Amino acid sequence: MKTGVIGLGAMGSGMALNLHKAGHLHGVWNRTRSKAAAIAGKTGAILYESPADLAPDCELILLCVSRDADVLEMVEQVAATAGSGSIVVDTSTVSSNTAVLAAEKLAKTGVAFLDCPVSGGVEGARKGTLAMMAGGDPAVLARAEGALMSIAANITLVGTTGSGQACKAVNQIMCAGVNQAVTEALAFGEAMGLDMHKVVDVVAKGAAGNWFLDHRGKTMLADDNDTGFKLNLHHKDLTICKAMMGGLDNVTLPLVDTTLRQYEQLMEQGYGDEDISALYRLKRPAPVD
Ligand code: NAP
Repeated sequence: MKTGVIGLGAMGSGMALNLHKAGHLHGVWNRTRSKAAAIAGKTGAILYESPADLAPDCELILLCVSRDADVLEMVEQVAATAGSGSIVVDTSTVSSNTAVLAAEKLAKTGVAFLDCPVSGGVEGARKGTLAMMAGGDPAVLARAEGALMSIAANITLVGTTGSGQACKAVNQIMCAGVNQAVTEALAFGEAMGLDMHKVVDVVAKGAAGNWFLDHRGKTMLADDNDTGFKLNLHHKDLTICKAMMGGLDNVTLPLVDTTLRQYEQLMEQGYGDEDISALYRLKRPAPVD
């Protein structure tokens, strides 16, 4: 399926390379041109001048940008030129409302839309093993599924437009809890003077084992928070969760509130572009004099 990728950051670049391996990648565009040029150079995909240039040449247009406003800006440009019958798939993490607005805008010119946020980190994007949570029309997903299977190991149609993003919000709240649990537990182990590499290895094999411990446990202990999921993006996601709760008074989100406050503290200290495991900075035991 002739696919164009818009947004070639940590996630989008991995997805583009896997689409290429499966024979689907046709063209790329990125706001910072050098990133798109690098992918075009590696794959032979066409390097487009703008989203509006890319759209009419593609049957599937995959978005992976940062925030709600960025998605709507890209959709505005794509809607102006995309061919009727083409499909826009948004893999960014944004609100359900944004998904509905994007779908409405594109429907006016006969372009279909699926909200398909993903989970599995940059490693999952690189390996093509992401979990994809889709919202939209099953018939549209059936048309796009062949190409999407090159970036995701699992695709679940959760429900109508916006349901994929609501499911991703569930995922992001859980990730906040896992981050809190892992950073707090490792700080305790370090304060006890344990060999933390042994601790991570053995705990990972038991009931408390989890993806975050496997992929970030040892890097956070080594004070390496360079790669992965930017803390300011998770802050954005948790803010979306809070906004989606607006008007509902039957659920509280104390863990989200605590995590937002701690992330804000880290962002003020200049750590917003680090991986979310930078939360360990606030938890690790202070050095003993
Ligand atoms: P990233 O590395 O910061 O990349 C962000 C991408 O969005 C870049 O290509 C950036 O272009 C583009 N962008 C931002 N604002 C834009 C705008 N106004 N117009 C056009 N392009 C714009 O972030 P990422 O980690 O790839 O995350 C992308 C999305 O996936 C986010 O919604 C994030 O929440 C979600 N996500 C991330 C992970 C993860 O582990 N990293 C996992 C699942 C989902 P430039 O290159 O010009 O800056």
